[in-house]
Amino acid sequence: MTNKCEGLGVKRAAKAAVLIAAALAAVAPQSLAQRTQLKPGWNMFSPQQDIDVGKRASADAQKQLPSCNSPRVDEYLTELGRRLAAKLPTGGVQYPWEFHCVNYKGINAFALPGGYVFVNRGAIEIADNEAQLAGVMAHELSHVALRHGTNQATKAEMAQGVLGMAGAIFGDSSGGAMLTSLGTFAVGGVLLRYSRSAESQADVMGTQVLYDSGYDPRALSQFFEKLEAESRGKTPPEFFSDHPSPEHRVERVDEEIEKLGGVPVSARRDSPEFEGIKREVLALPVVKKGAPGGGGAASVAPPSGKFTSYEGKWFALKYPDNWGVSTDEAGGASFAPQGAVVQGGFGGSVAYGVLVGLQKAEGHPEDADALAKVTQQLIGGLQQSNPNMKVTRQSGRVRLNGQRGLSTYLSNDSPTGGKETDWLISVLRPEGLLYFLCVAPEAAYADYDKTFSTILDSVRFPR
Ligand SMILES: [Zn+2]
Repeated sequence: MTNKCEGLGVKRAAKAAVLIAAALAAVAPQSLAQRTQLKPGWNMFSPQQDIDVGKRASADAQKQLPSCNSPRVDEYLTELGRRLAAKLPTGGVQYPWEFHCVNYKGINAFALPGGYVFVNRGAIEIADNEAQLAGVMAHELSHVALRHGTNQATKAEMAQGVLGMAGAIFGDSSGGAMLTSLGTFAVGGVLLRYSRSAESQADVMGTQVLYDSGYDPRALSQFFEKLEAESRGKTPPEFFSDHPSPEHRVERVDEEIEKLGGVPVSARRDSPEFEGIKREVLALPVVKKGAPGGGGAASVAPPSGKFTSYEGKWFALKYPDNWGVSTDEAGGASFAPQGAVVQGGFGGSVAYGVLVGLQKAEGHPEDADALAKVTQQLIGGLQQSNPNMKVTRQSGRVRLNGQRGLSTYLSNDSPTGGKETDWLISVLRPEGLLYFLCVAPEAAYADYDKTFSTILDSVRFPR
């Protein structure tokens, strides 16, 4: 009896094992063969350049964005992120992978080229479970592996030729570089401007990564559906300004899950660690946009009366010693107090400070007509990206380090809410139109006027 039963049991088990093996043989190669194969698009930059530019932009982002200041949360994001990255097809490239929690309630996450990932607390707070957070992170990691940032920059460079993208990002020894956006944030802006097809690719690869990491692969589209639902009738979350929703997002993800062989029964959705981290994040002090110190715009520290020196390629100046400076390789720079950059993401707007940029232009430095003309072009360009920007005081003549310049006052929407005053000083230099844009919220402008004047008085051009 006993023997027989045992015998039967063994036989049954063996038969079951054979059946499972057969099923695996039928399913596994098929699902591998069927999954969508994705590769990075054409790119004029090398993966090492992705890492170099990402590292620099990440250093800027860390200076400009308020940290959650929670080693536990950063560790958790790093552990989760690296686990996902291990399943990411990078074509053999070893990315350094860094993960940072940003103390912004706005629902956003972004990854700079080379693997520098920033996750807003808002994205952690809105996620229902670990799989959803893993979903948005897997989407971001896919942008890195598919090298979308520098691919977009490559396309922009090719399409327009005038952007000097390579120069703006990597420095231009010819000196002909031009900044198309303001200050150093040009870099973040360009690298994070994804197309809808890039979004769709990141969704598909992200779904594969989730699946391969043992998470419920539906979590990725669930997260985005949730975001869409939350934002109905409201301002869309910041996430969608960098990541435009592709057509048929959910259907495309579902299709990929089919190709992968469906949702595994054992798929992971949540973890006690996630719940603990979410509680910790919910308890963090709230930092209002534009004020990492907390408590709204007023908490940006007033400019110090002590000044420190900056010497760049095209100009030198003195700026308050409690401000920071960010430079870009094209020779532009921005000078701003802590917390002056607002907008949940990177590539954000400067609410307070001085932005210095260079735009390609020709004309003798003392040619008043040429200066007026290119200044008008600059203002036109600024108005394109800032539709509510208006000239409030027409250009007047000034001298900057003894050289002919134009002074123009503009009004614009402040990223802190309300209006801001922009004081623009432009001069023609041999290398192009050099401009200084002094920015402060209208209500606080009087407190900054004297500082701006002192900075501009200190400007020196190389002889
Ligand atoms: Zn995206």
